[in-house]
Amino acid sequence: MQISGYLFALLVWCGLTSSAPTGNETGSGGDKPPLLLVSFDGFRADYLKKYTLPNLEKFFSCGVLVKELTNVFITKTFPNHYSLVTGLYAESHGILASMMYDPVSNMNFSIQNSSDPFWWNKAKPIWVSVEESGYRAASAMWPGTNVKIQNHTLEYKFDYDPKVSFRERLGNLTGWITKNKSVKFASLYWEEPDRSGHQYGPEDSTEMARVLQEVDNLVGVLMDHLNETGLWGKINIIITSDHGMTQCSEDRLIKLDNCVSPDSYRVVDLTPVGAIIPLTDNLTVYKNLSSCHNHMKVYLKDDLPDRLHYKNNVRTQPIILMADEGWTIVKNGRLPRLGDHGYDNTLPSMHPFLAAQGPAFRKGYKMSSFNSVDLYPLMCHLVGVLPEPNNGSFAHVRCMLVNEQCNELALAVGAVIGVLIILTTFTCLFRLMKNRDVSSPRPFARLELEDDDDDEPLLQ
Ligand code: AMP
Ligand code: ZN
Ligand code: ZN
Repeated sequence: MQISGYLFALLVWCGLTSSAPTGNETGSGGDKPPLLLVSFDGFRADYLKKYTLPNLEKFFSCGVLVKELTNVFITKTFPNHYSLVTGLYAESHGILASMMYDPVSNMNFSIQNSSDPFWWNKAKPIWVSVEESGYRAASAMWPGTNVKIQNHTLEYKFDYDPKVSFRERLGNLTGWITKNKSVKFASLYWEEPDRSGHQYGPEDSTEMARVLQEVDNLVGVLMDHLNETGLWGKINIIITSDHGMTQCSEDRLIKLDNCVSPDSYRVVDLTPVGAIIPLTDNLTVYKNLSSCHNHMKVYLKDDLPDRLHYKNNVRTQPIILMADEGWTIVKNGRLPRLGDHGYDNTLPSMHPFLAAQGPAFRKGYKMSSFNSVDLYPLMCHLVGVLPEPNNGSFAHVRCMLVNEQCNELALAVGAVIGVLIILTTFTCLFRLMKNRDVSSPRPFARLELEDDDDDEPLLQ
């Protein structure tokens, strides 16, 4: 009784708060409803299983939940936020880490000093394509949106300021969407639960329950605000994240200075993926690092596994270190953070989730996984712009959409056709056998006739 009551309430809520699909989601260009993309930094996929998050559950119960996204290497904030909006791996879009050095221009990049277009220009993010197509895009602090990329600056944007509240970020975006009907794409960035994950570690269930409760309240704020502004049910909304988080500890430290002479190498970026420039003999530094620690893999740039999509860029340094899950690389000091990310992107703890809601999306639909680069072709489809060349695949995501025939359906149809073919074949074979059985006495019949023939003279 309780369950059916809950289901009924949910259906009523979905029905009351979201209008039926209008068909607009399949239109082109100006017919398409706006898309709001929200990132809660560092929201690990399994937080959804471990904690009770009623607003998020309410959000995806009327839409789609993708339980786990395979994000890109390295599993850091800037590389992954840029992959989400370009559909490219880090080696192709050029934002390879939080700290970078470009040996050709001799320039340095850090999150705090990231606004030079030079670092971003290799790729064209979706907001530039949207504006080049004659529509408008808006952003509240999505990494890269404050940069003049491919000679394009956003007018509707909020420069990065961690003190600005979620409500203010959201209010500005919805203000722009309602004021200007040509705004087709809006992106919003929020710092939690990444900040608390670093500070307390993801295994601190008290602190994580607290911050996830806060994040869940913000999802409630989002839904209420969209209802109040009349946008709920009319725009498409995607809530996702860039990466997960894993627990670190003081007893899992890898100290580089114990293995190599401090003046024989330069650290561009350190943990959990180290980017190292040897200052003396390359091979000696490589050999010393290689034998440094069982929980640290050491690669010469060219030997990096292809699956990481990380070696084909001048900004990838000559030696790359990769700490095992939960291990921290330092030059010499102490543990910097109780939680961290950046590790191998095949680790489930590094994976974020995705939830989507709106006229384009199926309701109450769950998917286990796809690649975070697949989101880009999906978003281009939703806003009606032509995707740039990318590493994603629309075929992986089309199941999320109401008006798309998805692979599952194709598989089901294929299975039915297969069964029908088999049944027909068996029926034909059976009939054939049966006919053969009936016709098998014929030779004897003919023999009898032959007998008759033999008897012919007698009849005459
Ligand atoms: P990380 O955990 O090192 O991958 O980076 C996450 C941090 O990046 C967050 O805590 C934010 O404070 C910071 N951050 C996010 N977006 C921006 C931005 N656009 N400009 C500067 N810092 C940012
Ligand atoms: Zn992040
Ligand atoms: Zn972080």
